[in-house]
Amino acid sequence: MKKIGLLGASGSIGTQTLDILRREEDFKLSFFSVHQNIEKAKRIIDEFSPKIALITSMEAYHSLGKFYGSTKIIGPNDLESLLRYEEADIVLNAMMGMSGLSSSWWILEGGGKLALANKESLVSAGKLLTDLATENRGVILPVDSEHSAIWQCLEGKNNRGIEKLILTASGGAFRDLTKTEMLTKSSKEALKHPNWSMGQKITIDSATMMNKGLEVMEAHWLFKIPPKQIDVLIHRQSIVHSLVQYDDGSLLAQLGISDMRQPIHYALNEKSRLPLDLPRLDLAQAGLLHFEDVDRDKYPTLDYCYKALEEGGNRPLLLNTINEVLVEYFLKDELSLKELFSGLNQAFDERFFEPRDLQDLLEEEKRIRFKTEEICKP
Ligand code: NDP
Ligand code: MG
Repeated sequence: MKKIGLLGASGSIGTQTLDILRREEDFKLSFFSVHQNIEKAKRIIDEFSPKIALITSMEAYHSLGKFYGSTKIIGPNDLESLLRYEEADIVLNAMMGMSGLSSSWWILEGGGKLALANKESLVSAGKLLTDLATENRGVILPVDSEHSAIWQCLEGKNNRGIEKLILTASGGAFRDLTKTEMLTKSSKEALKHPNWSMGQKITIDSATMMNKGLEVMEAHWLFKIPPKQIDVLIHRQSIVHSLVQYDDGSLLAQLGISDMRQPIHYALNEKSRLPLDLPRLDLAQAGLLHFEDVDRDKYPTLDYCYKALEEGGNRPLLLNTINEVLVEYFLKDELSLKELFSGLNQAFDERFFEPRDLQDLLEEEKRIRFKTEEICKP
């Protein structure tokens, strides 16, 4: 029996992870977290009877008793000790944005296995988190579909002979618009993703191409490949999930339907290919596969991400946190897409330094979040 911890259980990835646990007798949900969705937490407890449920919003935590059935309810102050001491064989981190950083840190510091959906933690603290994993024998299992695809294409190759990684991007909600047309669009339109159903923040990031930029950074840290050897291609069908080009010019790709349960299943099984009963990809029905370069002028986010990755230090954290705040305001229709794109530039005007530990990272996040909010407030 494999014990699974699930952070962000009420979200899009969380819900799909629960579906994998439901299908696999070998997995047992040991603990989970939600932020404030108490109703969902109760339903999860009723169905999976985990030992512990963590409610990360203090207010929501206080609205629930100390126990629900035989499940112990704990609050945000217990998160660190839960991740350090409660044994789970794998913890899947699917919390929203920067709220997932401390969790990734504590899991890896404790030498645990981290199934990582929360790309923002690795983006913001890539060097520190990967060093921490090496020092403490922690393991990162990719969940993001592109990274899972690359991981699958690297199977048995020990990272040798790689010429480049190619991440595919669906192009998001605005892929068929010109830059001028795109800049007039609201968050409501940005949320209409053509291929994937996901949480709000990542859906906006897909429309701005920021998601792909964050994924370039994520790929760099997961696979230790220099930024110059990581490319992005628009592939509107989301059938080829990503590719590896080897030194002999061969390309290996991973293909499948657009369903996050496949990469979640692969991560939780730690690369063992076990049966999974999902619809199969019908290539004849898919017909043509289409690929095109990204218009870097239309989507400046990609250049920002490469630049932040090259500069290193606190730059990726700044860019990622500023983006998170700007997306919040864009979602509330208090900021335009044009303002979002130009606002990201601030990441390169801030004081540069090399964060040393979690405290440095959290202080810098808090500082830039506050500053960006002050600028955004109507
Ligand atoms: P959702 O918005 O659907 O879910 C977010 C989860 O995080 C919810 O359980 C939510 O709890 C919880 N949460 C929200 N705020 C906080 C907070 N301040 N502290 C702790 N927990 C919080 O997001 P997704 O599932 O779409 O994405 C989760 C992560 O996975 C992101 O990092 C995303 O980039 C990544 N990812 C997602 C993919 C997808 O297909 N959705 C694909 C690849 C990566 P509550 O519901 O109670 O508010
Ligand atoms: Mg992805």
